[in-house]
Amino acid sequence: MTHTNPIIPKPQIPHRDLLQLRVIPTKAELLEDIARLRKERNAVILAHNYQLPEVQAIADYVGDSLGLSRQAAQTAADVIVFAGVHFMAETAVILNPSKIVLLPDLRAGCSLADTLTAQGVRDWKAKNPTGLVVTYVNTTAEVKAESDYCCTSGNAVQIVQALPEDVPILFAPDRYLAAHVIRETGRQMDVWDGACHVHQAIRPEDVTCQQAAYPNAELLIHPECGCSSRILSEFPDLKLYSTEGMIHRAQASEAQEFIVVTEIGMVTRLSNDIPDKTFIPVSRTACCEYMKMITLESVRDALLNLQPRVTVPEEIRVCALIPLERMIAKG
Ligand code: SF4
Repeated sequence: MTHTNPIIPKPQIPHRDLLQLRVIPTKAELLEDIARLRKERNAVILAHNYQLPEVQAIADYVGDSLGLSRQAAQTAADVIVFAGVHFMAETAVILNPSKIVLLPDLRAGCSLADTLTAQGVRDWKAKNPTGLVVTYVNTTAEVKAESDYCCTSGNAVQIVQALPEDVPILFAPDRYLAAHVIRETGRQMDVWDGACHVHQAIRPEDVTCQQAAYPNAELLIHPECGCSSRILSEFPDLKLYSTEGMIHRAQASEAQEFIVVTEIGMVTRLSNDIPDKTFIPVSRTACCEYMKMITLESVRDALLNLQPRVTVPEEIRVCALIPLERMIAKG
């Protein structure tokens, strides 16, 4: 009796599944595509300090909110790819409406911006008709349109100091930045009870623990951190820095090691800018998952498809432009 091998049928891939097969590009391919597309689209890539290292590496400019706003306002590019979160892309649209502004992942929001609505500001203004509203730049376009001034952590003190005396002030939405501004200016203000989940989660124990591990390291503290006020009460002379202020301080300081008390992405920025010094994150969990949603692949896709695009209705844009321009003028 002869044996014949059974015929094993070849697996059949249904046509619909074939369509779903996706080739994962290599990093080199993505970088090549991005380099080609950014030229073809005449695009500029603006990245926040909290972006992934590989995204910071492809950016034309890396900075904090104020620096990115300035770049967005003056760019000659046709397309702005905003490697940041939604309110930042909106800010770019408000400042430069003739440009196509792309946010590579529309899920990239901000827990701090989400705490404040335009209606919340309108309600305060109804009770304080002579009052002035100062909002942190981490707000939606609608909230900016209801504000008198926008500020960053770098110029909040300066902006509040310049406001007329005896006028009610609402400072929103970050209660920790508000506490810092009140301490520095001595002004009484109504404070919106908002906070960023990342900075709020940084505990004083995280700071003391890293100080014990790195006794020669200098602290670089950002005013949004939840631990700032408690740390300041223990070390009254300690200075708070904006993101750009951190870079200037680290360059000028004689210290070789620094504990960075803010979102972990700042360690990448500082290490890139000042490679001969060592930067230690206060906590490896101080990480903004919204910021990390932007990837090389989503940047490539945004350039390829010119989507997702962020827009702001014109009636809101013109109102939001006024407080933003005041913020930029203050430096
Ligand atoms: S770190 Fe906080 S304030 Fe900054 S984008 Fe993320 S959630 Fe918003």
